[in-house]
Amino acid sequence: MKSDKLTTVAVRAGINSDKHHGAVVAAIHLSSTYSLKGFNKKRQYDYSRTGNPTRATLAEVIADLEGGSTGIITSTGMSAIHLVCQLLSSNDTLLIPHDCYGGSYRLFTYLAERGLFKLLIVDQNDDQQLKQAIAKKPKLILLESPSNPLLRIVDIKQICAQAKSVGALVAVDNTFLSPLLQRPLDLGADIVIHSTTKFINGHSDVVGGAVIAKNSELGEKLAWWANCIGITGSAFDSFLTLRGIKTLPVRLKQHKENTEQLIAFLQGHPAIDKIYYPGLTDHPGHEIAKAQQHGFGSMFSFELKGGEAQVKALFANVELFTLAQSLGGVESLIAHPSTMTHAGMVIEAQIAAGISQNLIRVSVGIEDINDIVADLGQALNATLTVEN
Ligand SMILES: *Cc1c(COP(=O)(O)O)cnc(C)c1O
Repeated sequence: MKSDKLTTVAVRAGINSDKHHGAVVAAIHLSSTYSLKGFNKKRQYDYSRTGNPTRATLAEVIADLEGGSTGIITSTGMSAIHLVCQLLSSNDTLLIPHDCYGGSYRLFTYLAERGLFKLLIVDQNDDQQLKQAIAKKPKLILLESPSNPLLRIVDIKQICAQAKSVGALVAVDNTFLSPLLQRPLDLGADIVIHSTTKFINGHSDVVGGAVIAKNSELGEKLAWWANCIGITGSAFDSFLTLRGIKTLPVRLKQHKENTEQLIAFLQGHPAIDKIYYPGLTDHPGHEIAKAQQHGFGSMFSFELKGGEAQVKALFANVELFTLAQSLGGVESLIAHPSTMTHAGMVIEAQIAAGISQNLIRVSVGIEDINDIVADLGQALNATLTVEN
């Protein structure tokens, strides 16, 4: 029975896929190579870079969750993004947001500098700028909504419609939400990208990525390139990610509950200047997020009052929150985008993207909410007594 309920699809990832022994949990196939049945008689798999049963099981689950025809599992989120760049030739233009993930920004700018494609960087929330950029007929438009680290929201459906009018493809980095909270292909996108390192695996023990194509022609092209350049994910990582994805629906419920309670506590806190969270009614993207997402997620950022001394004090005082990059795992993490996740952006680009020295990014975990609130609360209070 194939369910169209995403919770069921996630929980039952790979279950009963072993036709040989009836193993309930998907088997892990570590073999790099596969025998032929005889001369010129290939089986389904021949070599694990090209195809691997464990990886294929994960790819199918993620493609089903996103509503796509083809899923490709890559070694990292960055290699998923790099894979999508293979669609571009030197005369093609890639249109990206000025505030995309720092690693993506670095990859695009360095590849463009080598002449592999042309790059247009715009504030996608500025309708005029965006319209002018789309009029230049880009081959591919990358969207990241909510964006990292400021949780800016763009109207995916509207931009996809504009893109269609000039024949541009749209790829959406859906890492911050996962398919359970947003399905870009339903909104008109052609490609979805994930760093499965984050919510999809959710246990901070795998680095991986995925590319999902809406139509199979595009999917086949991307799969061909993934094999050609050799960036497909490992069987072991796929196995762990299959294990992680099963609890994605329940993890997201707890992430949501904890985030709502933490945000309620932080609102009006004397150490905080501003909170960036699409779930807040005064967030400029609140209405669009409400319409295109199935929840507001568990990522937010805020401006800490004061200067470097206060920032240092905050990180020195957190105990439950771990000072670390990454997000979407069961544990609560706190990060300083300017010196960590977005260090790949030169300072001018950071300023243009609105990333200040006082910006703090939070990934809310699924620990007991009382501990989460108490820890961030005491660390914030500690910043109030710091002498400048
Ligand atoms: C982490 C991240 C990436 C890169 O993924 P890796 O798995 O670290 O290579 C890309 N996009 C977004 C939005 C991310 O958060």
